[in-house]
Amino acid sequence: MIPKYIVIHHTAVSYRKNPDQWKATNQYHKDKIWGYKNGKPIKTPISSLGYYGGYNYEIAAKGTIMQFRRDGEETVAQYQKNMNNGQAISICLDGYFDIEEPTPEQYEACKKLIIQKMEAYNIKPENIIPHRDLATLKSCPGTRLPDNLAQYFGIVPIIKKEPASFTLEHPTGTPAKRASVLARIARQRVVQKVLNLIAKEK
Ligand SMILES: [Zn+2]
Repeated sequence: MIPKYIVIHHTAVSYRKNPDQWKATNQYHKDKIWGYKNGKPIKTPISSLGYYGGYNYEIAAKGTIMQFRRDGEETVAQYQKNMNNGQAISICLDGYFDIEEPTPEQYEACKKLIIQKMEAYNIKPENIIPHRDLATLKSCPGTRLPDNLAQYFGIVPIIKKEPASFTLEHPTGTPAKRASVLARIARQRVVQKVLNLIAKEK
């Protein structure tokens, strides 16, 4: 499936305790029983890359990125709204962001990874969401990270198109074209002034 969302998580274990947690995550998800179906335990499926880690990516404190699952592959990261079916790329950062902030290396690595995936799959900035948007009982990825993750990672100004008024006020093209646009803006302003005057007279 082509991913449409990026969901951000934290491990909720401080990177001061363990700065590189992917092995722990892999083991945890390997052992984990998610529930029972017809009396049989529901276990984490092994990924096409041979791992049990339920996220697509996990980022250590030093900024190194571990890939557990291919983009678009089934995850065990967020059970809500069918978000494990490959429509979301799940990125988990090592750390407990109720009490600490991502390291600068983690922040940069995550930002780069997000931008790369946005470009690869045409993912909208508003579709970069914290896990807690889906699971309201959780704080994941931590209370110190805001809801607007596109803004937090400095992605919105890169992606956002300049407003139309800005391009109008700063026309580009040949000098003749620029002059004609500027003349049109000037005419519009005169018309607006006259309309304002008429409105006042009424
Ligand atoms: Zn989470």
